[in-house]
Amino acid sequence: MYNLKSLPDKATDMLGWSWSQFEPYYAELEGRTLAAATVGSFLDDWTRFHDRLSEVGARLKIATDLNTADKEAEQRFNRFLEEIYPKSEEAEQKLKTKLLGSGLQPEGFELPLRQMQADAALFREANLPLAVEVEKLCTEYSKIIGSQTVEWEGKEVTLARLRPVMLATDRARREKAWRLMAGRHLKDRAALNELWQKLLKLRLAMAANAGYSDYRAFRWQELYRFDYTPENCKQFQQAIEQAVVPAATRLHARRAKQMGLSALKPWDLDVDPFGRAPLAPFKNVDEFKAGVLSILERVDPRVGDYFKTMMMEGTLDLENRKNKAPGGYCTSCDALKLPFIFMNAVGLHGDVMTLIHESGHASHNFEARGLPWFQQRHAGLEFAEVASMGMELLATPYLAKKAGGFYSREDAARALSDNLRKDVLFWPYMAVVDGFQQWVYESPQAAMEPADCDRQWASLWNRFMTGVDWSGFEDVVATGWHQKLHIFQVPFYYVEYGLAQLGAAQVWANALADQASAVANYRKALALGGTRSLPELYSAAGAKFAFDAATLGSVVKLIEEKLAG
Ligand SMILES: [Zn+2]
Repeated sequence: MYNLKSLPDKATDMLGWSWSQFEPYYAELEGRTLAAATVGSFLDDWTRFHDRLSEVGARLKIATDLNTADKEAEQRFNRFLEEIYPKSEEAEQKLKTKLLGSGLQPEGFELPLRQMQADAALFREANLPLAVEVEKLCTEYSKIIGSQTVEWEGKEVTLARLRPVMLATDRARREKAWRLMAGRHLKDRAALNELWQKLLKLRLAMAANAGYSDYRAFRWQELYRFDYTPENCKQFQQAIEQAVVPAATRLHARRAKQMGLSALKPWDLDVDPFGRAPLAPFKNVDEFKAGVLSILERVDPRVGDYFKTMMMEGTLDLENRKNKAPGGYCTSCDALKLPFIFMNAVGLHGDVMTLIHESGHASHNFEARGLPWFQQRHAGLEFAEVASMGMELLATPYLAKKAGGFYSREDAARALSDNLRKDVLFWPYMAVVDGFQQWVYESPQAAMEPADCDRQWASLWNRFMTGVDWSGFEDVVATGWHQKLHIFQVPFYYVEYGLAQLGAAQVWANALADQASAVANYRKALALGGTRSLPELYSAAGAKFAFDAATLGSVVKLIEEKLAG
């Protein structure tokens, strides 16, 4: 009856489906006999079905983000999350178990199989209720952070609303806002410490249930970190200390001089050092799209075509509007085989970079969509962010109007140094976040003591974040880990960005020497999806999956040269 051939062609015809309509397709797949001769068509059909189901979920989510006031959209999405998603996850797990049990190893499926094996090895029934507890505490964390407000100019505002004041040219105003924010953070110190102890205890218990004495080793498997070790991460921290920290300190010193200050204070880090008004690259969304298209076409005609396709198919929703959800992301409509970019542009340089970044993810999607099975299409974040961060850097030569972009020559230079400065400053901060978590899970007993966490964070901060005068704010420094949601919500997930940024910078260095071949390699690597290991993906892109000071030093040198020129 439920032949997979009877599936609707379009996910849009399935948006209102209930679980009872999806379920028979899973049952049909689960009932099949797997053999070498049939596993290919099993994976084909699983993919056809999964693509539709995943597109239904993506479309329902997009609908709520496009109009947060649309109650019907919200209900439909919630129904999907509550009634369909958990059941489909369970059904997916059965199909994975079936495939693993068959012992078959379809070609090009080695890596997805390895991930399925890791999931199966970690799975413990006893951890399900603990995972729910963790989820609740993570929500609690978001609530605490999200409800932090202060009174600013006669109004109660969230701290997120206050952050743009850091761009104000009036220094006293910035200082006042910064002090308010820091003071407000400290008020939740006790609540966050308590939450932290509960989360840590639960995580250690989950690892123990799965037979691990060490949460880090457990989490490593859970994050599919098969290609690098905690030792590699420590090596990367040392490389950052050696190759990046001195450069970051020089950047801060230069900024202080430009601003005419003897020392930079924490509220002096985001404002334009020359007191210029923010860059204003475009006036409306048509100008925005046209400018980014023109830049991407110059990076590579094919990349330009991808963006044009999204424009024509209407899978870009870029401008900020009333009732649109905050943030920006690239998702995909898998049955339609099209990426979708959502963001909230208001006319700033950051919007240009966000769209170029998301276009990198979209290009990854386009390049890998030809892979037959859905499990093959997604690379780990360590490489997915090379696609997006790489695109940001590949676009840098074309920011000026004369080169295809938005700006005067002077503004383009300003935009470029903004981008490169942020890249340099990110690595040391990443090293603090990663170093802290390595310490937490190496010495969980000590980490159960918030005072020890404060001391550890402060010591890492002082080691990596040099060049800014934090004196008088020792408490603010020591509790900085409270502000990093990853530490609470997604342990260990952060070094990925630092590694990917190093990969992206290498692609960019190649492009400065020979753009056509560098971009060809980059695209070739994107087209491999998740079918190769990280070192292989990096190597295909013309880069090294690296943790060492020499590789990092060479790109930092290049960045400093560009910043000086
Ligand atoms: Zn990204």
